[in-house]
Amino acid sequence: MLDTPITNLLRLTEAHKLAFKKLGISTYRDILYHVPNRYSDLAEIVTIAEAVSGDEVTLFGKLSNVQIKKGFGGTPNSTRGTLSDHTGEIKLVWFHQPYIAKMYAEESQIKISGKVSGSGKALSIVNPDIANSKHLPIDSGNSLFRSDAEIQVDSFLSPIYPETKGITSKYIYHTIGKLISGGILDSTLDPIPETLLSKYHLPSLKEALLYIHFPKTKEHVLVAKKRLAFEEIFFIQLERARERLLLANTPGFVIDPTQKDLSFFIKQFSFPLTESQEKSLSAIFSDTKTGTPMSRLLEGDVGSGKTAVAAVLSYAAATTRPYIKTEKKIQEFGTLQVAYMAPTEILAKQHFENFCEYFKETGLSLALITGSGCYKYPSKARPGESTNISRAQLSKWVANGEIAIVIGTHALIQKNVQFKHLALCIIDEQHRFGVKQRKALVQKKGAAGEEAVPHLLSMTATPIPRTLALTIYGDLDLTLLDQMPLGRKKIITEIITPLTRERMYEDAKRELASGRQAYVICPRIDEADTSKLGSLQAKSVVSEAARLKKNVFTKNTIGVLHGKMKPAEKDKVMKDFSDGKIDILVATSVVEVGVSVANATVIIIEGADRFGLSQLHQLRGRVLRGTHQPYCFVCSDSSSAKTLERLQALITAKNGFELAELDLTLRGSGGLSQGKQWGMSDTAMEAIKNIKLVEAARTEARALIKKDRTLADFPLLAKALSDREKTHFE
Ligand code: ADP
Ligand code: MG
Repeated sequence: MLDTPITNLLRLTEAHKLAFKKLGISTYRDILYHVPNRYSDLAEIVTIAEAVSGDEVTLFGKLSNVQIKKGFGGTPNSTRGTLSDHTGEIKLVWFHQPYIAKMYAEESQIKISGKVSGSGKALSIVNPDIANSKHLPIDSGNSLFRSDAEIQVDSFLSPIYPETKGITSKYIYHTIGKLISGGILDSTLDPIPETLLSKYHLPSLKEALLYIHFPKTKEHVLVAKKRLAFEEIFFIQLERARERLLLANTPGFVIDPTQKDLSFFIKQFSFPLTESQEKSLSAIFSDTKTGTPMSRLLEGDVGSGKTAVAAVLSYAAATTRPYIKTEKKIQEFGTLQVAYMAPTEILAKQHFENFCEYFKETGLSLALITGSGCYKYPSKARPGESTNISRAQLSKWVANGEIAIVIGTHALIQKNVQFKHLALCIIDEQHRFGVKQRKALVQKKGAAGEEAVPHLLSMTATPIPRTLALTIYGDLDLTLLDQMPLGRKKIITEIITPLTRERMYEDAKRELASGRQAYVICPRIDEADTSKLGSLQAKSVVSEAARLKKNVFTKNTIGVLHGKMKPAEKDKVMKDFSDGKIDILVATSVVEVGVSVANATVIIIEGADRFGLSQLHQLRGRVLRGTHQPYCFVCSDSSSAKTLERLQALITAKNGFELAELDLTLRGSGGLSQGKQWGMSDTAMEAIKNIKLVEAARTEARALIKKDRTLADFPLLAKALSDREKTHFE
């Protein structure tokens, strides 16, 4: 039943179909799991005597004389009834909605709202919205009226659903109502084992779905949300636990370098490693020497030096004559290979250039592969430099193992890139990749030593709260780079209001005049449709650049960078910026993460109220690269005390983690961006705040998988998981 396609609903227009698709609703299950954003609060209820023709009113009373009237000439039937309270009565008509008569029995107590029409005594409301009703089998008892006149308002929370063009919240509500009154929940089986439900005092799935759509009290909503969140987090944890177990039983390449090997390489850096970098490396090598594949997340604030850690590990992998332990024998290999994937061409290129520098004394070959071209280092003709090569040539050298380290964008995942012995995958800014892409890289393996799975080092500068990390990275071990390299100047951050904007421009001009460069970030316009998003972003970036050129930075050169540009155009602008040919780069926030231009010391962030704090923090990290004093101006057009207070945290918080936690608690006020980014529903994101719930889900999932790896005794769970996988990996 739950798997029935939503298109089976009667009278679905093309617009409805499109809208359902956009909302991610493709089955009855999806719509039942479409959780209201909020519930309309204590709406202004008036008495029927107070209702005046022409007014929009909300009334509460008893429904009677419910009947179905035949429609004319083939039009659908309608429902009629009378609503009465202690002050009078009013007629209600629902055209084309005969099912209302089925949903609301005589004497149902309902809350309705709509526009009053008619005159004198003959008042009526056509097609009123029904908020919620008593007849739904939530529980009986607990009279809705304290007295005839006094209403226990809490009893009537009407759900407001996320809607989209073509589908209103009301439509969703009615559709769910129809499904439920049609008995869909009777055939709904609960995938969560009974024992867990009672252990954690969670309602059954059936109860939870009723409570979420037809709550009588706020408690209903809370309990239902808790249950649905537990379910989702539990599923994620099961998946992770399963992956983890699988990995633990798979051979990996043994990488166990000596201190001597490493210190030769570390000398190539122009700086000593921080203590934190060294600690991360020992955590990493303690994994890679075990002979099972590592799966580790390196989480470090912007500028904490993750690339250097990745470089040392790459060096170790490519030079320590590693081997894998299999049951039968120990296999030895020649040079093992490394794949290093970054989310953008600019970043991949930057890593490649850094690596060429770090690896120049090692005799190892490196390559860069992106959508717009391939490079190899060193060039045969000009050692010490890299050279442009064809994709075909690169593929050949990667396949025969001649190239040890391949850096690239997702071009790396493509089929024609085959490795000989892929021992290590590094994913930079890993949150920018989908689960599918990350998996695709690890599954590349190599032609030889096929049974071994490469080690995985994921890196991110997006500090995420611990509970969220536990959930989405349940399969990864976590290492924190929590120390900044010495000598970094603290960024001077200022919140700018319209009053201080002119002064900010003066400050920026002063920095520019002394030879520094600046970023101006324009907000991502909040718009679900990404195809539109591109052009909107482009527009705001381009028009802001024009405005600045005309009115503010008249003497400076200004470049623009946004998602709509071709990779080659982006590269050119980025190169001009890093070569100092452009003074000011006006860009969107989404375009480049991790890019480093040491001479850029000023960042102006427009529309800062639209960003989450961690995102602002990450943007600010763009100017934490050089040795000059950096400045970050956080501009808000809103002067609401709440907004300004939130932004103040950028000045007071000690680090990105603190900001991430704040984002989580402030969620709803423009804090953390939706759970979508992590493949999680908003309900689950909200529940993430509850560490007990997350830990319970994790503990139970791990215990269950340990006991019953294939979930043979839990067929419903097994099915739920494979359904999830299908939707997540399509
Ligand atoms: P992120 O962690 O944001 O990826 P990067 O790896 O890009 O940071 O490093 C930021 C900058 O810090 C680079 O210019 C890098 O050369 C420098 N860096 C890295 N480690 C150290 C260190 N231990 N001491 C000084 N500078 C360092
Ligand atoms: Mg980085």
